[in-house]
Order: sequence, then C-alpha cells, then structure tokens
Amino acid sequence: MDVALALAWLRASAGAVAAESDRLTRLDSAIGDGDHGVNLNRGFAAVVATLDGTPPDGVGAVFVKAGTTLISKVGGASGPLYGSALRALGKALPPGPEVELSALVAGLDAGLEAVRKLGGAEPGDKTIVDAYRPALDAFEVAVGSGSDLAEAAAAAARAADEGARATAAMRARKGRASYLGERSIGHQDPGATSTALIFRALADVSAI
Ligand code: ADP
Ligand code: MG
Repeated sequence: MDVALALAWLRASAGAVAAESDRLTRLDSAIGDGDHGVNLNRGFAAVVATLDGTPPDGVGAVFVKAGTTLISKVGGASGPLYGSALRALGKALPPGPEVELSALVAGLDAGLEAVRKLGGAEPGDKTIVDAYRPALDAFEVAVGSGSDLAEAAAAAARAADEGARATAAMRARKGRASYLGERSIGHQDPGATSTALIFRALADVSAI
C-alpha cells in the first residue's frame, strides 16, 4: 500500500459513510441516539479536508493524521474508537511512502487492539469489534496464503459484512445500546455496519 492508496481508501470511506449516512443513523435510532451517520459523516468529511490540505508523505502518517482528526471532530463513542484505531494503525506501520502487506496486517491488528483497549468490547458484544475481528482474520488468512491486497481486502470486506449482519442477533453489552438490554436484539449494530463500509471501501480502491 502506498500513500495514494491510503488516501484513496480514506476518501472512499468518506464517500461510503456519506452515501449510507441515513442508514447508519436509522440503525442508531433503533438502539442508540440516532447520531452515528451524522457523527461519522462529519468526521470523515473533516479527514478528507485535512488530507486534501497537506497530505503527509508517509503511509503511517496519513493514518495518524486521519485518526487525530476523527478524535477531534467526532463527539460520540465512534470518533475516539475509529480515531484510535487509525492512529494505532499508522503508528504500527514502518515509515515511508509504501508498506508491505505483512506490515498492513500488523497495523490493522494494532488498530483492533486499540479499539479493544479503549472500549473493552469482546467479540459478541455487538460493537465495531464484531465486524473488525472477522475482517482482520480473513485479511490475515488471505495474505498468509499469498493473496494480493485486492483479494485480501475483498475477503475482509465479505467477512466484515457477515460480521455486521450477525450483530442483529446479539444483545449489546457495550455503548448506549447496552442500556436496552434484551431490546437491543433484532437490530444490526450501527458501528459494526460502518466498519463493514470501511473494509468495503478498501476492497473497492484496491481492486482498481
Ligand atoms: P454514541 O454511542 O456515543 O452515540 P455513535 O452513535 O457514533 O456514538 O457510535 C455507536 C457505535 O459505537 C455502536 O453501534 C458500537 O458499534 C460502537 N461502540 C460503542 N461502544 C463501543 C465499545 N465500547 N467498543 C467498541 N465499539 C463500541
Ligand atoms: Mg449514537
């Protein structure tokens, strides 16, 4: 992955979040406070604006800058969680304008670890982790068996999507949705859904 692809991924994520903002907000209205689409849209729009201004010359620096922007622009739980994930990803990457796939695996792993550390969510708690974990596993397996970025990202996107859909059957144990207890069952988690959009965006830009 080079700087141009990292920037393209973040821009595509911003585009997907904008296009699906109403859906994310509807999902969050069912089990949260109805601001997830608005939160992420504002955050990713700010990320694109920041990166358009002065794009960093290292892949890691791109993600650190994007993460810092998300943390500062998004008030909800998802801003600090996604922001920390992106910062951890960026910091885990070796410096330079291009990184190997194996480094990207390690970086995505550091990103998930940051989400777990900040939010304390385990798989099955109906959160971002329930899409991120399977996506990372699929990405790692694909890279391990010799897939290129496009193939690995496509596998990750499929796994994230399945993971997000599986959250519908879960009872929320973290975040606002956990206040609903049993009543959170039957609704897909907004954060897991946006995570799936972000992995789909990576697959889309990698396939070009
Ligand atoms: P808020 O809950 O503050 O309104 P958002 O609506 O933007 O923030 O984001 C809600 C999403 O954040 C949830 O759908 C869930 O996926 C995710 N989330 C909330 N708490 C946690 C946590 N502790 N760990 C991981 N993800 C979480
Ligand atoms: Mg919310």
